[in-house]
Amino acid sequence: MTAAFAGGFAATVTATVRLTDGVPMSLVTTPTSQLAVCTQCTGTRVTHITMTLTDGSIVDFASCHVCEHKSWTEAGTGLDVSAVLRKAQKIRV
Ligand SMILES: [Zn+2]
Repeated sequence: MTAAFAGGFAATVTATVRLTDGVPMSLVTTPTSQLAVCTQCTGTRVTHITMTLTDGSIVDFASCHVCEHKSWTEAGTGLDVSAVLRKAQKIRV
């Protein structure tokens, strides 16, 4: 369900932001030596999360705290938010 995913997603981002000064957690898989850089403003205050979507895709989400730019990528290729939501939907067999 899209609404449920959006809610859970917001919670995930909030939880991760609190960790920026703290201890790395299993959710955050980006090594500190590879700090994400915003593609819009080249700022380094970027929250970077790697997650596995419902269809098995492993995607990276980056959110810039400087310019609010958000981006999704899968294996280095940019993803549209609608594509992410589609991948995150539960597949009923
Ligand atoms: Zn930015």
